[in-house]
Amino acid sequence: MKKGFVRLAMPDIQEDSIVDGEGIRSVIWFQGCSHHCKECHNPETWDFDGGVEVSIDDVKKQIDELEFQAGVTFSGGDPMSQIEALVELAKYVKEKGMNVWCYTGFIYEDLEKMGEKNPLYKEVFNYIDVLVDGPFVLDLKSFEVAFRGSSNQRLIDIPKTLEKGKVITLEKYK
Ligand code: SF4
Repeated sequence: MKKGFVRLAMPDIQEDSIVDGEGIRSVIWFQGCSHHCKECHNPETWDFDGGVEVSIDDVKKQIDELEFQAGVTFSGGDPMSQIEALVELAKYVKEKGMNVWCYTGFIYEDLEKMGEKNPLYKEVFNYIDVLVDGPFVLDLKSFEVAFRGSSNQRLIDIPKTLEKGKVITLEKYK
């Protein structure tokens, strides 16, 4: 990806979602996912050459225009697959005082290991409030678990996890 650009599944931020995290949220849909979960709801977001290239400045302008949103959710696709863009945008949202959720097909422990090679995978956790981690597992599909597709996926409270040095999930959605 060219510096200063991000590949998104759709060029515009989707506003007013109530299913992609707590409250009324805006969702930025990243393009590209290597996990290829069976019966993924968004297989059109797998192709790393699909979607549309958008300048990060353009996405920031859209973020500036958001109103009446509890926060921003990064979803996809896998936002962690474009880590440079994710860090820049998550930092931007966080510095505006908004709450950040991020979905990923990676598990938290693997992202920690990836952070040993590429520090951006560590840095990104400074700007995420809740990480919804892990692939969608068809055998564990559940309608009982809030904001997730399957029960293996966790709603990780990132600030608490960093503070305690172990994975802490959101109490109210256990
Ligand atoms: S990680 Fe998410 S987007 Fe990627 S294949 Fe799995 S369910 Fe689909």
